[in-house]
Amino acid sequence: MVLTRLKVPLRIGIIQLNPQIGHTKETTSRAWKLLDELKSKNHGTASPDILVFPEFALTGYSFHDRNHILPYTCKPTEGPTFDFAKEVSKTFNCYTVIGYPERCGDDDKTATLYNSAIMTDASGDLVFNYRKSFLYYTDDDWGCQENPNGFQHFEIPVKGFDVNGNSNDVKLKTGLGICMDLSNYKFEAPFSDYEFATYHLDHGTELLICPMAWLHSAAITKDTKDPQQQWEKVKSVLDREGIPEYGSQGRFVNNLDSSNVIKTEPFEHAMSLKDYNDLDTPDITNITYWLLRLTPFVALKKRYEWFHSKLLVPFLTRTSTKTSSYVGSSLDKPWVHEGKETVLVLANRCGIEDKQTVYAGSSGIYKFNGHIHGDEDDSVDTTNKSIELYGNLSKGHEGILVRDVELVVER
Ligand code: GLN
Repeated sequence: MVLTRLKVPLRIGIIQLNPQIGHTKETTSRAWKLLDELKSKNHGTASPDILVFPEFALTGYSFHDRNHILPYTCKPTEGPTFDFAKEVSKTFNCYTVIGYPERCGDDDKTATLYNSAIMTDASGDLVFNYRKSFLYYTDDDWGCQENPNGFQHFEIPVKGFDVNGNSNDVKLKTGLGICMDLSNYKFEAPFSDYEFATYHLDHGTELLICPMAWLHSAAITKDTKDPQQQWEKVKSVLDREGIPEYGSQGRFVNNLDSSNVIKTEPFEHAMSLKDYNDLDTPDITNITYWLLRLTPFVALKKRYEWFHSKLLVPFLTRTSTKTSSYVGSSLDKPWVHEGKETVLVLANRCGIEDKQTVYAGSSGIYKFNGHIHGDEDDSVDTTNKSIELYGNLSKGHEGILVRDVELVVER
């Protein structure tokens, strides 16, 4: 069968928010303020095709126990998050992806709770409800259950164009992931299993959308040695910038200009830039780490050596996992992603909860370009030529990022 190359143009928007528990209405109205800006900036040009919001975007994230979260839980097509997604989708004639706390069952005592994200289409109808598969400590605190189906993918109808400019209906292979899904299972599984990336590489996912509430390393967690001293450090930065203890709200740092992309940094240097300061710039440490978690989609010279010396065969023939690739290689291909393209949208939250949970913001849009052979590249960081950087938001402020992305698919 002869495959046709189709160009799928996508205008993607991310709305980065700092939601605080108990303030859903205020958060929703700030989200609309950002969206109104987008409407006026559009000057009659095309609307976005997809708008993406963070994990628990309107409710806040750090719930302490089941009773704390119960009043905020909803069924997928009920409640403030669904109402909001529906209105956003209808207003912009677009897909909307947003995270929310899900309940399955009416009885408060027996309802099963999930950390979920919905996608609505241009008519405001539910396209998919995805439940987080890999849980973070905070999800465990309120009795969140893992997605019983594990990672999932689905298809969304979009338009693709052939060389002659003729329009074709394309079913775009899409996957949602929620924050910790990007990490190794319970931070215990081998780092190089890259479970989420491997699943989506194996299923040929072309569009990966991740609502997140990812912590900055300045956050105070159970592993912080001196919490008091750590908080004082964060507080001094906030004081200097005139930002309250819950972080910045309404001081929007937008990125609607496609020429505005981050400065690339080699891995070691990126990892050394960990401080929580310059809140109006993206956090290169986190960005580099997220890209590292997507290694199977990134071009690597080493992979060809591993393939030829059959180094990965023991991992590819293990009976414990059902994956057909490992670190991006399969039994018959050095790099499964070669010749393919996948767009990644990471919509993270910003701000601070409980004077301890500091979020990393830095939401961004990327493309893993498998048409670039990249066999001189051996570093998974922003300098890798197979990773196209479309743009990022700041680490500490709310804002909106919009980019026109072109994705090549074969059908
Ligand atoms: N791995 C993520 C982190 O460390 C998990 C947070 C989340 O799932 N919200 O921030």
